[in-house]
Amino acid sequence: MSNYSKDILAQRLKESDPAKVAALFAEADAVRREYMGDCVYLRGIIEFSNICARDCHYCGLRVSNTKLSRYTLSREEIMESVAVAKEFEIGTVVLQSGEGSPVPVKELCSIVREISGRGMAVTLSVGELPFDDYQALREAGADRYLLKFETSNEKLYKKFRPWSELKDRLKCLENLKKLGFQAGSGNLVGFPGQTDEDLADDILLCKKLELDMVSISVFLPHPETPLKGVKKPALEKMLKTLALARIVTLNTHMPATTAAGTMDPLGREKALQCGANVIMPNVSPSEFRKLYEIYPDKICTNEGTRDCYPCLVRRIESVGRTVGKGRGDSVRRK
Ligand code: SF4
Repeated sequence: MSNYSKDILAQRLKESDPAKVAALFAEADAVRREYMGDCVYLRGIIEFSNICARDCHYCGLRVSNTKLSRYTLSREEIMESVAVAKEFEIGTVVLQSGEGSPVPVKELCSIVREISGRGMAVTLSVGELPFDDYQALREAGADRYLLKFETSNEKLYKKFRPWSELKDRLKCLENLKKLGFQAGSGNLVGFPGQTDEDLADDILLCKKLELDMVSISVFLPHPETPLKGVKKPALEKMLKTLALARIVTLNTHMPATTAAGTMDPLGREKALQCGANVIMPNVSPSEFRKLYEIYPDKICTNEGTRDCYPCLVRRIESVGRTVGKGRGDSVRRK
């Protein structure tokens, strides 16, 4: 049943009876199997710049964090990372940076064109841009765009992203869809002051936006942000939100996030068993990985792709799944 009301979603998010929580996860797993199959698609993330002009209260890349060494990969370094992803038959490259990175849109278009020419799908995650820039990137061959709304609660949004309005973010998502991007968005679970009702609204917003990808992740407090010292949420709350988002949105691609793996050594496997069908391995050069510190103690920053890939395959197979081949485009559009 995908037409849950806000009240029912909030009620299920509050559920603490282990048997009922297990039943929710089993239900989400069955929906995932029916609509998305047993393949787990890999998306190779290249974190090409940790420079950000914004000051979000929950993010270690925020411009006010002067303790962070900043970097931007050269075009050659980006293309070397693309070659590594290709070597492991990863069909999608995700180019991610802070907002307002020093790579001009024209150069980004040229990089997108080159990657697309190698037969790989390109996802961008570079924040809010004017319509014309999105259009240029789409025309250059970018297939997908990830722009998380983070929270559907306007007050929380304004509190933690004071430079921005939720409606502007949603307008960007509308523009991306208009241009034919496969659009991804989602939330963070665990903001201080966030309620189960807020999370229920987040799930319903994911459905309303008719997304191709939904990312449900978890807020982990960074020591160089105003939210340092805030209590970490329970992984189970994030997993319940993920499970309900799967049940409500049915056929979206949903990642088992690195943040889940940071909270719990088996966090990604748990996410794969309650709705997720994507993993996003980091294929950035090893020496820069630690510097993309959105949250602290991020896993997979000491390893290179040659170590990460077999580890991820083992994890995927350990929960009875297989690695998806090819681009793994949106199922909604087939
Ligand atoms: S969340 Fe994004 S826009 Fe905000 S500070 Fe971090 S990288 Fe910048």
